[in-house]
Amino acid sequence: SLIITDECINCDVCEPECPNEAITQGEEIYEIDPNKCTECVGHYDTPQCVEVCPVDCIPKDPGNQESEDQLWVKYAKLTGNP
Ligand code: SF4
Ligand code: SF4
Repeated sequence: SLIITDECINCDVCEPECPNEAITQGEEIYEIDPNKCTECVGHYDTPQCVEVCPVDCIPKDPGNQESEDQLWVKYAKLTGNP
C-alpha cells in the first residue's frame, strides 16, 4: 500500500483519481485505506494518486510492503475478478 504523509496539503485532487476508492479525507490530512490500495495494480501502470499529487507526498508505506503478487490478490478480492 501507499501512504499519505503529513506533507499533504488537502488539495483533494487524488481522491477522485483512485480506482479503488481507497482515499478519503481524514481528520487532518487525506488517508489511504491499506486494505483497498492495490498501488493501482489491476487498473493502471502507475499509481494515479502519485501522478496527480502536487507535493509528492505519497510514498510506498515502509510498514506495509507488498509484492506484485500480493497486490494482484488484493485486486481480485476487491473486484471479484480472478
Ligand atoms: Fe488508490 Fe492507486 Fe493511490 Fe492506491 S496507488 S491509493 S489504489 S490511486
Ligand atoms: Fe494530499 Fe497529495 Fe492528495 Fe492533495 S493530492 S490531498 S496533497 S495526498
